[in-house]
Amino acid sequence: MVVGDVTTGTDVLVIGAGPGGYVAAIRAAQLDLDVTLVERDAYGGTCLNHGCIPSKALISATDLAHRAREGAEMGVHADPTVDMAEMVDWKAEVVDHLTSGVEKLCKGNGVNLIEGTAEFTGEYTARVAHGGEGQGSESIEFEHAVLATGSRPVELPGFAFDGENVLSSRHALALDDVPDRLLVVGAGYIGMELATVFAKAGSAVTVVEALDSALPGYEEDVTRVVRRRAESLGVEFNFGEAAEDWTDDGDGLTVRTESEDGTVAEYAADRVLVAVGREPVTDTAALDAVGVETGENGFVPTDETARTNRDHVFAVGDVAGEPMLAHKGMVEGEVAAEVIAGEPAALDQQAMPAAVFTDPEIGTVGLTEAEAAEVGFDPVVGEMRLRGNGRALTLAESEGFVRVVADADGEFVLGAQIVAPEASELLAEATLAVEMGATLEDVAATVHTHPTLSEAVKEAAANARGEAIHTLNR
Ligand code: FAD
Ligand code: NAD
Repeated sequence: MVVGDVTTGTDVLVIGAGPGGYVAAIRAAQLDLDVTLVERDAYGGTCLNHGCIPSKALISATDLAHRAREGAEMGVHADPTVDMAEMVDWKAEVVDHLTSGVEKLCKGNGVNLIEGTAEFTGEYTARVAHGGEGQGSESIEFEHAVLATGSRPVELPGFAFDGENVLSSRHALALDDVPDRLLVVGAGYIGMELATVFAKAGSAVTVVEALDSALPGYEEDVTRVVRRRAESLGVEFNFGEAAEDWTDDGDGLTVRTESEDGTVAEYAADRVLVAVGREPVTDTAALDAVGVETGENGFVPTDETARTNRDHVFAVGDVAGEPMLAHKGMVEGEVAAEVIAGEPAALDQQAMPAAVFTDPEIGTVGLTEAEAAEVGFDPVVGEMRLRGNGRALTLAESEGFVRVVADADGEFVLGAQIVAPEASELLAEATLAVEMGATLEDVAATVHTHPTLSEAVKEAAANARGEAIHTLNR
């Protein structure tokens, strides 16, 4: 059936149904606004379809195999094999469950869903081209718009993604076989998470990173724990080397790298995963037509209410800038919807947590000790190492630590750095502490269940006060 060019009106047009867009749409609908959400690919965006969820599914599944293989220490003997095709099918089921859940939540909240690509055609008008030839288009008049078009992987010169030899994370998460030799370019979030997945699945993984450490934005003692664990899985790191080009000699690929001093190195591989960052998607929605400007690195600049340079247009999620994290997009989506509905709302980036789902995981929120000193605090720090935590030992996962940073004066918790199993979960307590302005005493005096990993958070807070029981005070 050919759909004619009809015009409809809506209070809020949301472009993109990733975590930024679908949350904005649902919240706006809850606030009694008429909302139209347009998605050109799949509900849930990168996060649900090609990012957070598929990567965490494969992280869990390959870790299960790894833990079983390593269980001899605990008296468990097993020799599991990884069937990547089955694993990827299981992952697809998880993704389907969640994406159809997003669709149902949108519909259940009264959001009008349209499949197609939305482009602005004027200040208050847009056109949606439905997918596929002859599917037609429709015009939409809106009062407010929320741009949530997300991001895509940066393509390195000489490494065009082909899905066969040179993979983006999206390709890597859909592989139905385990490459014998995987070369990973970039030891950032994606490089480190997926290097761990494929090492646990049985690949020989080599990582090439232009800077001098893995996860360069994090403190050295945090990343050291994760790098060492990856090395113990057989991952080989090559720091200070930028990937330059690759060749296929018919017997496999050869990737050439160059160091700053001009030293050239070559690595053999069967596939190359390039994970050197992501860039905002600003070329799908004809931003010129509505007058929205882009700024540094191509992101759309916004104020603390997620508003762009045009009063009636908001931008949320990856397209609006770093950190490119799903939960950042979600909170921006909520704020944009509430501001459009006339409610007082603003972003508080101070308590924006981040987690890397490596082995062990990393979780951080707020300020490090150095950052706290830099902005004028007199920081006090407390630490609890996991080898003194009963639950960590019973999990045979005792590498890592919890560090809490506070202001010496008021003892307000300013931040936390956690490297531990389930650090992404432990982080919630620290994030709450930073968000609500809790003190070290608040955290240290809270009774934590025993034996749990979370006791390490309590002990780190107590340690900063010189009152820890289960670790020696500094
Ligand atoms: P997206 O999720 O990218 O969604 C944007 C949507 O807009 C897309 O569906 C796209 O099709 C649609 N679109 C674009 N243009 C148009 C148009 N003109 N018309 C209609 N639709 C359009 N973050 C975390 O917090 N935790 C993690 O563990 C995590 N893991 C990740 C793992 C990987 C491998 C990757 C790649 C990313 C990961 N991220 C993670 C980042 C996270 O996926 C993003 O921060 C998040 O998806 C951003 O949400 P968004 O709504 O801004 O954009
Ligand atoms: P990243 O910015 O985290 O890391 C990219 C790395 O590539 C950097 O360390 C950089 O120095 C290196 N690099 C750049 N050019 C290079 C070259 N020529 N040769 C070798 N190394 C090079 O980017 P990413 O890993 O692609 O992830 C993109 C974004 O996706 C992240 O910034 C994050 O926002 C999001 N993400 C989040 C999670 C999570 O929250 N757990 C997981 C995955 C992705």
